[in-house]
Amino acid sequence: MPFKKTIIVHGGAWNIPDQLIELSKTGVAEAAQIGMNTLTRGGSALDAVEAAIRSMEDKVYFNAGKGASRNSEGGYELDAMIMNGATLQTGCVAAVRNIFHPITLARKIMEQTDHILIVGEGANKLAEKLGITEQNINNLLTQQEAQLHTQLNKTTPPTVKELFAGDTVGAVALDTNGNIAAGTSTGGLPGKLPGRVGDTPLPGCGAYADNQSGGASATGWGEAIAKVVLSKQACDLMANNTPPQKAAETAINTLTQKTKGWAGLITLNQKSETGTAYNTSRMARALMKEQMHQPQTTI
Ligand code: ASP
Repeated sequence: MPFKKTIIVHGGAWNIPDQLIELSKTGVAEAAQIGMNTLTRGGSALDAVEAAIRSMEDKVYFNAGKGASRNSEGGYELDAMIMNGATLQTGCVAAVRNIFHPITLARKIMEQTDHILIVGEGANKLAEKLGITEQNINNLLTQQEAQLHTQLNKTTPPTVKELFAGDTVGAVALDTNGNIAAGTSTGGLPGKLPGRVGDTPLPGCGAYADNQSGGASATGWGEAIAKVVLSKQACDLMANNTPPQKAAETAINTLTQKTKGWAGLITLNQKSETGTAYNTSRMARALMKEQMHQPQTTI
């Protein structure tokens, strides 16, 4: 029996301000719809995750791709990862500069190299070799987007509790063959030190996928998420038949107890069951399953 095509996406947790609520909802709904269209056309879970994340990397109000936060020196260093639950193949990129679809670079690293994680200058060199050119953010943003970007971006670190307007993006998908894929993309914490890498491009932390258990994608305070290997933790619970909602809640509770950090998590298993949990004030997300007319969006 074919599996039920499903995609769940998030547009970050934290304290999404009122002015960004409608935009964030639109952004995640569009991403879920794009992911579902990809699955409906016969695309794989990986294709759906990449397409959904690319669409959110194009939105200036998410902290990913074009909307990435600047580091303490005003530069952009992006992190992303993608994982194939059928094979455990993983592609990750960290601290890459001026590449505004890092999820695609992560996928190319997974499929076209023997490595899992490429960082910094090496990632930029590899991108060029693989036909992905660096871009100047100023040429990508319309005047209106540039204004919003300036308004949202700080180069001094906010206090953790103050965080944040517009956030990291992620997606987990299930295709008709039962394959699960997961991915996450971020500009990282605003005002971070150059070279700082958070959870997003670390397998098991920013995302994880294994057909046998399920998939997960995380957002939030990377230093805390990495300490508890949040996404893998939820997948391990699902491997023991914990439903995805309970798995997400348990993993977030563990993070809260052990690190006092803030995070959000989405989960999905082969039965098309999903979960969302977060201990921040808000988390933008959208869910679409086959036969639904439109994505279900919540913030
Ligand atoms: N987890 C990301 C990081 O720490 C940021 C975020 O999700 O807001 O880099």
